[in-house]
Amino acid sequence: MKKQQFISDYVIYDDEKELELKDAELLSQAHEAVQGSYASYSHFHVGAAVRLLNGVVVKGANIENAAYPSGLCAERVALFAAQAQYPDVPIEAIAITAESEHNEIDEPIAPCGACRQVMVEAEQRSQRPLRIICQGHKGAIMVFDGIETLMPFIFLTKFL
Ligand SMILES: [Zn+2]
Repeated sequence: MKKQQFISDYVIYDDEKELELKDAELLSQAHEAVQGSYASYSHFHVGAAVRLLNGVVVKGANIENAAYPSGLCAERVALFAAQAQYPDVPIEAIAITAESEHNEIDEPIAPCGACRQVMVEAEQRSQRPLRIICQGHKGAIMVFDGIETLMPFIFLTKFL
């Protein structure tokens, strides 16, 4: 038997002024994307913005449905739209923000497990580490370089 440890490296910034300009701009687009959210049930509005290697930004927002599984997270809306519109352009970064009608979200919101799995494959297709920038409505920002920092022991297509 051998006990092992998983260590995740990430960076916390106090606010957007500490970010590189292009990441601060992407985060700003994610905040704008919240306006497209349809969250009639959770009242939790999420915005995401994906930056492609060619500089194009594709936005997404969470879309809920009375038949709950039919809805989709903002991150996957943005990642799938980016893939559908720019299938040959690598994805460089995604910024994620959130607003709640009930609480002030002043800490970073991390993506759910299903979105992390989609990020795994987006990263593999892009053949470069995905930068993941997470914030709430305001406050500190967490930045992860590479999905493996958020999701250890990922399911890889090489197993298929
Ligand atoms: Zn999700």
